[in-house]
Amino acid sequence: MARGLALISTDFDGTLHSDGETPPVPAALQQRLASLQASGVRWVINTGRDLESLREGLERASMSVRPDFLVTVEREIHVASNGDYAPLREWNEACAAEHRRLFGVIAPQLAPLRDWIAGRFNAAVYEDEFSPFCLIAQSNADADAIEAEFARRFAGTPALAFVRNDVYARLSHVDYNKGTALGEIGRRCNLSASQTLAAGDHFNDLPMLQQQFAFWLVAPGNAVSQVKAQVRLQQGFISSRRCGWGVLEGIDWALGGRGG
Ligand SMILES: [Mg+2]
Repeated sequence: MARGLALISTDFDGTLHSDGETPPVPAALQQRLASLQASGVRWVINTGRDLESLREGLERASMSVRPDFLVTVEREIHVASNGDYAPLREWNEACAAEHRRLFGVIAPQLAPLRDWIAGRFNAAVYEDEFSPFCLIAQSNADADAIEAEFARRFAGTPALAFVRNDVYARLSHVDYNKGTALGEIGRRCNLSASQTLAAGDHFNDLPMLQQQFAFWLVAPGNAVSQVKAQVRLQQGFISSRRCGWGVLEGIDWALGGRGG
């Protein structure tokens, strides 16, 4: 039997938030999150967006609630502080150092990969401050083929992860993802996985959609099949409703005592 729900981690795009809805985060979900926060539950938005893009998304969504923590680019942690968010320096600096080391090692292999892609696909490949290789493929089929080639080329570097979200991808160290960042937030709040709920819809959510990090696993109805399969395998909740409405159902399911 789980202890009470005390920590909620929601992905942003396609999970908490939907561009197709007005408001993009259902008012009923905002109210539920606010009342849970008032009773001491902590809430994390755990996203692939960078901090600036997430701030913009939150601003545009005109939300009445604010999370206690943000995880950005699937790996950096920020803590609510004085109406804004402050970086969790110890974690973020260790994370950046680990990535610098790893990306230095693989640098010589990236130009040949870029050439391989350019010869076969019409895809955008570029570098940003978080990854020396970022991809925007034209279709999920193209992204699948590029991911398979990447796996073949980097089979000897198990520390390297190809972090996929729809047609987008970036590189990361396997020790830093939505799951380990959520675990670190739990550790700092003195909360365990048995008190945690995680909700997500796409590939980059798979690392946090594990019992190791969250007892209650939730996928909204729009989640990709791989996410639903992983959640189903671990007795999680798959909503028939999309995005935020599915998250709200998942929270109700957890509060109702999943498998209790
Ligand atoms: Mg998503």
